[in-house]
Amino acid sequence: MRRALVNNERSEAAPALVGQCLVCSQQMIAKCGTQRVWHWAHQGNRNCDPWWEPETLWHRRWKDHFPSEWQEIIQHDEKGEKHVADVMTGNGQVIEFQHSHLPAQERTARETFYRNMIWIVDGMRLKNDRKRFLAGGKLFSVPFANGLFLTRSPESCLPAVWLNCTKPVLFDFEGFAAPDGLPPEMQGKLWCLLPGRIDGHAVLAAVSRSWFIDSARTREQIIPMDAIAWVVRRGLTARRWSYARPPHSGPARGRRGAKY
Ligand SMILES: [Zn+2]
Repeated sequence: MRRALVNNERSEAAPALVGQCLVCSQQMIAKCGTQRVWHWAHQGNRNCDPWWEPETLWHRRWKDHFPSEWQEIIQHDEKGEKHVADVMTGNGQVIEFQHSHLPAQERTARETFYRNMIWIVDGMRLKNDRKRFLAGGKLFSVPFANGLFLTRSPESCLPAVWLNCTKPVLFDFEGFAAPDGLPPEMQGKLWCLLPGRIDGHAVLAAVSRSWFIDSARTREQIIPMDAIAWVVRRGLTARRWSYARPPHSGPARGRRGAKY
């Protein structure tokens, strides 16, 4: 973990420090090597939260966008089960950053446990995932909406394990490196797959990192799912309507791209 209690203060790992686990109160050893980011570990590599994964620089860079009092927040359920949420916003929404592979069963268990949560998935871990997404699949844009896309075959461009979540999943295909070979319109974006389908379509929203970070600070729900669904339904209805228009009836009146 990133923090442990040292003299009753949440502290980051530093050479030779000894601390106490925030979850189980056992002794923690500061690991300050060169292979992994500095962190705290239980003695003997035991871990009191089975959901905890070793952090990468990617995790840390993301967490650094949020105040330290939002990071590594212990959550309990009514049965006394405890887990450490990566980030919990001031409005109580949990953000889980996932780098390694996550079995579907554990993914569902976490969604049930945290309830009000969203995922950020490291889309850079597997080169093929990124390549497949950039190849584009069969995305088409929602009429009259900026940054919203639909597909009937999300499996053609996104990793299968994340397709049927009950919470929004934001794919980060860029990490924090300089973008390589990304078309400019795709740079700096997170791609958010909404839960469920609308008229058989999976919905993807492209949002900028800065929008996401700002939204986490200001909105109760970082991804305004109801508003997006409304815009998508309106776009689909408009498309049906425009297909039904008689030929030569003139161009559709200009309508501005919707904001959500
Ligand atoms: Zn512990």
